[in-house]
Amino acid sequence: MAIINVMEKFINERLDDMLSSEDCCKCERCVDDMKAIALNKLPAKYVSTHNGELFSKLEASIRQNAVDINIAVAAAIDAVSKRPSH
Ligand SMILES: [Zn+2]
Repeated sequence: MAIINVMEKFINERLDDMLSSEDCCKCERCVDDMKAIALNKLPAKYVSTHNGELFSKLEASIRQNAVDINIAVAAAIDAVSKRPSH
């Protein structure tokens, strides 16, 4: 079964992007915590990888909600950098 949460892909991209200009710990553990926090704040958008049409539609609708993703990722970076789990 090839099912992915498209939201996860967007969060990963945004997180990499935003972390490049953040002065916080970027170890694997912190980055994983940030991803988990951001993912929990946003609705999961599952798609089967062999359905290219649905994938493109979802991708387009998520791009329109990029602001929500920015806010969730920024909040996750903030939360983890204040309280790293190590
Ligand atoms: Zn760390």
